[in-house]
Amino acid sequence: MTAILLNGKELAAKKREQMKEKVEQLKSQGTVPGLAVILVGTNQASQTYVRSKQKACEQIGIHSVLVELSEETTESQLLAEIDRLNEDSSVDGILVQLPLPKQITEQAVIERIHPSKDVDGFHPISIGKMMTGEETFLPCTPHGIVVMLKEANIELEGKHVVVVGRSNIVGKPVGQLLLNENATVTYCHSRTKNLEEMTKQADILIAAVGVTKMIKEKHVKPGAVVIDVGINRENGKLCGDVDFDEVKEVASYLTPVPGGVGPMTITMLLENTIQSAERRA
Ligand code: NDP
Repeated sequence: MTAILLNGKELAAKKREQMKEKVEQLKSQGTVPGLAVILVGTNQASQTYVRSKQKACEQIGIHSVLVELSEETTESQLLAEIDRLNEDSSVDGILVQLPLPKQITEQAVIERIHPSKDVDGFHPISIGKMMTGEETFLPCTPHGIVVMLKEANIELEGKHVVVVGRSNIVGKPVGQLLLNENATVTYCHSRTKNLEEMTKQADILIAAVGVTKMIKEKHVKPGAVVIDVGINRENGKLCGDVDFDEVKEVASYLTPVPGGVGPMTITMLLENTIQSAERRA
């Protein structure tokens, strides 16, 4: 078997074309969607992510503002900046690029963003609403994964989803969203015993670990759908948590890295920003 690739890049491009029209419509009614991105310090990966988010905004006509703060910024300075953006009516979404320097508590920052501008979907109110199935901003990477699966007409109801990784930004919420879609969900993590036994049961296997190529052919049930969230570097090259060459021989569908989940993440951020602007309008 050779897996069908789930092309996130293509799907993201299609979605962004549709969003462009929505943005034009909003603008013609006098509302320019605005996203504020706060970058603290000089982490290179963060700078790259922020640049691609800004570029994506520009491409579809969202106004983006970059607030760059130094590595020495204190927590209260950052919170004051968030307060200012919370009050700014031209800003529909606020995103603080993580990770933050060690003198700043991430949770305090996440909780300071007004839930109506929480386009990352990390605020406890957004998470709570997601859990109860209420309308809210959904976290971008998990939402992007669900959209990809649905666009490929992959049945979710009654399927056994195994998620490897339980972070607050990927693992936990992607399991919750798929539970909301009536899948049966198992979480695995660093303390899980017999990982292979668990992952082998998955109809849909999601790897969000951050360990290069750790999911091998032996972890995958033949015909399973495999979603690789990992973004790792090996000899300067991007690669995922899944051993692509091995797993493509057993999986039915597989996301490549790069070009799989990554482009969908940014697309969902754009979608949340537009949604927020629509509410304002
Ligand atoms: P975290 O480091 O926050 O979480 C990693 C999770 O993997 C933890 O729950 C950890 O378990 C678990 N884990 C670690 N080692 C093992 C192991 N050997 N076996 C089983 N489980 C293990 O990472 P994130 O969730 O933030 O990110 C995961 C990956 O996804 C990274 O490569 C990241 O770069 C990428 N990413 C990609 C995005 C995209 O847009 N494509 C967006 C966000 C992240 P425990 O909880 O027990 O420590």
